[in-house]
Amino acid sequence: MKRIAVFPGSFDPITIGHLDIVNRALPLFDEIVVAIGNNSAKKYFFPLDKRLDLLKNLFKNEEKVSINAYEGLTVDFCKSEEAQFIIRGLRSSTDFEYEKTIALFNKELKGGVETIFMASSPKYSHISSTVVREILKYGGDVSPFVPKEIATTIV
Ligand code: ADP
Repeated sequence: MKRIAVFPGSFDPITIGHLDIVNRALPLFDEIVVAIGNNSAKKYFFPLDKRLDLLKNLFKNEEKVSINAYEGLTVDFCKSEEAQFIIRGLRSSTDFEYEKTIALFNKELKGGVETIFMASSPKYSHISSTVVREILKYGGDVSPFVPKEIATTIV
């Protein structure tokens, strides 16, 4: 049986911290679906289409990675992708406390899915989409924080 994992997130925008998690998870799984969980009630900095394009561009040469978007419960999306695992990155104990609760729910919900946590690499643990958005808003240079393949298309 193929080991398929979903890496869900807002990716608004994707950072080198996210990319590092995907690259380090690749040897563990046969397929990784990087999936934008879209909440229609939430306002995003980049529209969904742009975030999808950035992800598709970034992973276009990585056969094991596919890109998708979904609304609704992550476990339902996992089921539709036949994924047995959810990948989440942990930057801090605050991330852990929040993620632990979600992971327990995702395990207990009907069709429950196991969450695999990966600690962020120390050099990336301060990087967040929130800070990247803030820098973009004020015209700063985000190139140290986003994958180089997309740095020019993001501004
Ligand atoms: P969400 O809104 O679901 O938290 P994000 O796009 O902010 O979406 O994050 C997606 C996942 O990537 C989360 O598990 C988050 O903890 C992880 N992540 C974000 N930034 C980093 C980073 N710098 N290092 C490791 N993991 C990260």
